[in-house]
Amino acid sequence: MACLFCRIINRELPAGIVYEDDEVLAFEDTAPQAPTHLLVIPKRHIATLNDLEAGDQALMGRLPLVAARLAKERDLAEDGYRVVMNCNDDGGQTVYHIHMHLMGGRRFTWPAG
Ligand code: AMP
Ligand code: ZN
Repeated sequence: MACLFCRIINRELPAGIVYEDDEVLAFEDTAPQAPTHLLVIPKRHIATLNDLEAGDQALMGRLPLVAARLAKERDLAEDGYRVVMNCNDDGGQTVYHIHMHLMGGRRFTWPAG
């Protein structure tokens, strides 16, 4: 399996896993852009937002729930945090297994660069 994140799911690559359930995995980003920078992913391989189908609604709905739970656990909820999903080249996507960035612990600017 060539996909980096599928290899993390299958424990073929090490990662700082912070959350796992039957459908979702969350782990530390190896190039953190904030004091907290986690990636929340579905365990099923979906390459980009463009590949989502109607049947993925419940699965994808779990990502922000997990992100919010992790943010609360890290005491980020009140000050705030940012969640981001990049899609394809112009969106800045570099790993083609859909993922939600959870970043916190500093102030972010808007619009995003
Ligand atoms: P994106 O640019 O939105 O596709 O985000 C991909 C993210 O994956 C980047 O923030 C990378 O730092 C991160 N990343 C790449 N390889 C790994 C890895 N092996 N373990 C954890 N995070 C990774
Ligand atoms: Zn994958």
